[in-house]
Amino acid sequence: MKFFDRINEVRKRISEVEHNIYHGKEEFLEIYEKNLQLEQEIEERTKELNIANKRMLTLQNILDMMNSAKPLKNVLETVVNSIQGEFGYLHSTIMRKQKDNDGDYLSVIAEADDITIQRANNILKTPIQARRLCYTKYSIFYNTIENRRIVQSTDIAASLNAIMQDESEELINEIISDKSVRSVIAIPLYAFNKPFGVFCVFSSREELAKSETDFLAMYAQQIELAITIADLFERVKEQAVTDGLTGLYNRRYFEECIKKEVIRAQRINQPFSIIGLDLDYLKKINDTYGHTFGDIAIKTIAEVLKSNARSIDTAARMGGEEFNILLPGIDSKGAMVAAERIRKAVESKTLDVIGNVTASVGVATYYEHTENVEELLELTDQAMYQSKRDGRNRVTLAKLISETSWQEI
Ligand code: GH3
Ligand code: MG
Repeated sequence: MKFFDRINEVRKRISEVEHNIYHGKEEFLEIYEKNLQLEQEIEERTKELNIANKRMLTLQNILDMMNSAKPLKNVLETVVNSIQGEFGYLHSTIMRKQKDNDGDYLSVIAEADDITIQRANNILKTPIQARRLCYTKYSIFYNTIENRRIVQSTDIAASLNAIMQDESEELINEIISDKSVRSVIAIPLYAFNKPFGVFCVFSSREELAKSETDFLAMYAQQIELAITIADLFERVKEQAVTDGLTGLYNRRYFEECIKKEVIRAQRINQPFSIIGLDLDYLKKINDTYGHTFGDIAIKTIAEVLKSNARSIDTAARMGGEEFNILLPGIDSKGAMVAAERIRKAVESKTLDVIGNVTASVGVATYYEHTENVEELLELTDQAMYQSKRDGRNRVTLAKLISETSWQEI
């Protein structure tokens, strides 16, 4: 009995130990699995963070570009290139909706430079960027723009066909024979609440995650902002009437003034004159003393013009070192007196470092010389060049158009 009792006891102990071992193992497995899960979670979170970080950097990139005064095309090209290679995007482009006599169409205004587009353009002969692309009704791009929503399609052929309806099926099939592009995502672009165009991304993935849609929508908002700012910038520039260096009126404003003056002159049957003035030997000043002193010489001329012009005269810097003054109601005799006074005033100024500067002047008068504005400006120029030829620092009255040979013009 004692023997069996002992065996039983040993058995019991063994089973106890076994039990403990088993539980320990289970506990260990549980901890091990928990750790594994945690590790995976951390890995996923890190990935998400990395992507979020990249998105932030991309957006930052756009903001930086917008702060610089680069033209819109440059900004948009940086935008499409900066999304390149991220998140499995193989190509991206911005198409603008435009209109001409034949109706609405799309044209590429910015395009990422990558092998996907290079390959397509090689097949197409005429690059997509140089084409008038079709704005086909109910196509992916049409739906995106008209309904103002993001549309994704895995039918690449149909998307390409929609914009290039005149291309053969074989060519389109050849383009899509490279299977790396799996879907097209079209994102609407609006500026001033009006359709501007579409931001188009070619993805290597068929599916479009919610977070990705959010990102692309945000990205498109930045593009819209860039477009809006560039447009405002253009408008402000267009409205600007003065020249930055001298504060005189600019060419655009001068041309507007002269148009109005012609109407006025015709109505009240009065002449008006133009004085054209060009600084002598500016290149020499630049070469000898540097561009800054060249600028000072230009500013000096501007000062002289400002202080010599009557309040109704318009003095403008036409570009470089060329100035025009519009004298309403003044005939050639009066204009010659004014021109001579200006020439003398320029000559009598003594500048630091440079010393004295001179200018060559030409005068032409509406009605007396011609009744055509273009001809009037041309004759002013001719008279100014005559002053240069005659030795500079002088005033010349324009010849009558009938006396001006075609060689001179
Ligand atoms: P000319 O007496 O025949 O008029 O000789 P020029 O040297 O004044 O004229 P030219 O047409 O040979 O050269 C004009 C120079 O003026 C060349 C150009 O670089 C310079 N220039 C044009 N715009 C500016 C400007 O805004 N600032 C400065 N510093 N130089 C300018
Ligand atoms: Mg000059």
